[in-house]
Amino acid sequence: MSALHAAALRQRLHEAGVHTLLVQFTDLHGVAKGKWVPLEHLTEVLATGAGFAGPSIAGTGLGRSGPRSEYYARGDAATALPLPWMPGVARIIGDGFVDGQPFEACPRQVLRRAVARLETKGWRLEVGIEPEFFLLKRQGERYAPHDDHDRLDKPSYDLKSLPRQAGFLQALREALQACGLDVLQLDHEDAHGQYEVNFAHAEALASCDRLMLFKLAAHALAEARGMVFSMMPKPFADQPGSGMHFHVSLWERQSGGAQSERCLFDAGATGAPLSPLGRRFVAGVLAHAPALCALAAPTVNSYKRLTVGESISGTTWAPAHIALGPNNRTALVRTLPGRFEWRLPDASANPYLACAALIAAGLDGIERGLEAPADVTDDLFELPLAALRARGIAQLPQSLAEAVAALAADAVVCDALGPELTRQFMALKNAEWTAYARHVSTWEMARYAEFF
Ligand code: GLU
Ligand code: MG
Repeated sequence: MSALHAAALRQRLHEAGVHTLLVQFTDLHGVAKGKWVPLEHLTEVLATGAGFAGPSIAGTGLGRSGPRSEYYARGDAATALPLPWMPGVARIIGDGFVDGQPFEACPRQVLRRAVARLETKGWRLEVGIEPEFFLLKRQGERYAPHDDHDRLDKPSYDLKSLPRQAGFLQALREALQACGLDVLQLDHEDAHGQYEVNFAHAEALASCDRLMLFKLAAHALAEARGMVFSMMPKPFADQPGSGMHFHVSLWERQSGGAQSERCLFDAGATGAPLSPLGRRFVAGVLAHAPALCALAAPTVNSYKRLTVGESISGTTWAPAHIALGPNNRTALVRTLPGRFEWRLPDASANPYLACAALIAAGLDGIERGLEAPADVTDDLFELPLAALRARGIAQLPQSLAEAVAALAADAVVCDALGPELTRQFMALKNAEWTAYARHVSTWEMARYAEFF
């Protein structure tokens, strides 16, 4: 960005009452990190970036000394935005740079590379991300739904709980709208204390940036009200977990200019939800599903959500079966006219990594001309395992260890992440799995202590 543009941006932010920049990046876990920088230093933030000790950030693998020990979050001017819940502060997203070069293990840089691959074909991925989350309260070591009266057997769309949480939910809506997001709906989901907020889809990178903005806003607004905003995938064993579904469509630039685009997933008058190209993209997503799992369901707890079995609401929603079906919410991929819903990601996924891996898998499906399996119209939760096997419908990995092993074996997804990020991600996730495997739970004590 030229000095002139930087000065104009500083002036614009100053006029909006901004005195501080929140320079934000996303670590490997998908957690927002950053620092506050006075607005006077915007030029450095845009030119070099705000500096951080590399080894202090999860998953950089950077050393403690030398030029490669410093992580710079270089401001992306287009993302500068005053935060309505933090008067005087504007968020600006930083892309990771090390030693003057784009940092290979920065999740946003990884997605930038994936998006650039699409651009060489004249394509653009449009993504709508649907976060589900819990509003909880701490009770000593335990967590409970923040709303004490949230106890219905079938809690979806409960209109009695919404007004009880209106203080938070309406403040969140207002904050997101003030940031330019088109908020589409807010509802109570299928577990106690669980809600969902939807905002309009956007280009992949912008959509991930918005998801991070949503998390920043929700954390701050919940904390101010003494609530815990949680994107843990499955806090309560007997209730559904939190998904973070991606609605996906692919667009091609037409010669008429940027305004004119064609949806490549649109099947036109055929009556099918997806075009042949769309089906090949989905075929890639299904073929790479086990490896994608490591990124879209990246915690030990994610696999409690992916275990099929009834909950108190009578359903599971676990997208564990590797299949696609028209408007079928029991399959991993639900197809809709001109788009598909990728139901695998959960609320703990790093959106940049999940999205980059999704693009790699979809492009592989297109480039190799993979054929999607037959559409499934049955309720897959009703079918016994033997029937699923007979139809060639496999299940997703059932633990983080299995998913990480599947990732290690998948050259297409690893290539998209790059060797450095792959190495760091595996190290982090293998350590997480080992820590979990060593833990002796209260379930084990109750079951085994006096059993034998
Ligand atoms: N909470 C479910 C999940 O874990 C999804 C429910 C829905 O389709 O909204 O993915
Ligand atoms: Mg939902």
